[in-house]
Amino acid sequence: MENRSSLIKDLESLLGQERVVSHPTELLVYECDGLTLSKHGADAVVLPETTEEVSEIVQCCQRHETPFLARGSGTGLSGGAVAAEGGIIIQMSRMANILEIDYNDEVAVVQPGVINLHLSDATRPEGYHYAPDPASQKACTIGGNVAEVRRHHKPCPRTDGGHARRRNRQIWGAI
Ligand SMILES: Cc1cc2nc3c(=O)[nH]c(=O)nc-3n(C[C@H](O)[C@H](O)[C@H](O)COP(=O)(O)OP(=O)(O)OC[C@H]3O[C@@H](n4cnc5c(N)ncnc54)[C@H](O)[C@@H]3O)c2cc1C
Repeated sequence: MENRSSLIKDLESLLGQERVVSHPTELLVYECDGLTLSKHGADAVVLPETTEEVSEIVQCCQRHETPFLARGSGTGLSGGAVAAEGGIIIQMSRMANILEIDYNDEVAVVQPGVINLHLSDATRPEGYHYAPDPASQKACTIGGNVAEVRRHHKPCPRTDGGHARRRNRQIWGAI
């Protein structure tokens, strides 16, 4: 496919070859998320490290008229982190920094690939806990939490939309 080759070439020139996964064998792991019955192959998986790179990837996909989606840890149980129509998966695992924790305003600013448990670990000394703690909290990302909650328009059983709690009081959001 000529378009696929030229898209991958453009992505490689943006990110370098090491951050563009396009070999069929390496792509197998991204064929499904927690819903293992539903499998679809992506054309490539890219690993941005900054917001600017995400923006450039999206613009590149638009130029090539190629669909794209974000992926956190792929623990979702609804098949959302899979390239159902082919295209590009933007894998967020290299954007996993906690940027700011403001205990006065009780707000944390994080990159989307932060693992739930890492935010709880970082704030535990101050007595805080990131409340959306699905059983996947060791693996799932805050970006994935927010996207799943928004998509389903209501909190899932143990996920309440991105807040941390202290002594059962909702006190701050992760942005
Ligand atoms: C053992 C286990 C237990 C679980 N327990 C619960 C539970 O108790 N409650 C619950 O609600 N869920 C639960 N889940 C489901 C899943 O863990 C959650 O939905 C979690 O929020 C998904 O996070 P993720 O990082 O793995 O997202 P992914 O699976 O990678 O993605 C999920 C969706 O979010 C989108 N997305 C991911 N990152 C971004 C981003 N940065 N920007 C835009 N969109 C993005 C993806 O495109 C996809 O549509 C469980 C799953 C497992 C495997």
